[in-house]
Amino acid sequence: MSVHSSKGAKWDALRLAVLERDNYICMHCGNEATEADHIIPKSKGGKDAMDNLVASCKPCNAKRGDTLLTRVSGFNPRWLSSL
Ligand SMILES: [Zn+2]
Repeated sequence: MSVHSSKGAKWDALRLAVLERDNYICMHCGNEATEADHIIPKSKGGKDAMDNLVASCKPCNAKRGDTLLTRVSGFNPRWLSSL
């Protein structure tokens, strides 16, 4: 049994839960999200947890890399979908 990958089935379930919570809307640019992005990067001690993850599209997730995300407090991505 390999435990080398941190992005197994557990990560997939978490990522999907984050995407559903955020309505599949990228928290950075408002496009369709397919990934989950860490608010505090794992390299800086961030956890794989719902409250440390936001929905993100692939370009934004790749672009951001290791920088710390400033969370917009009170922002609800569902507002975007009802515009
Ligand atoms: Zn984006």
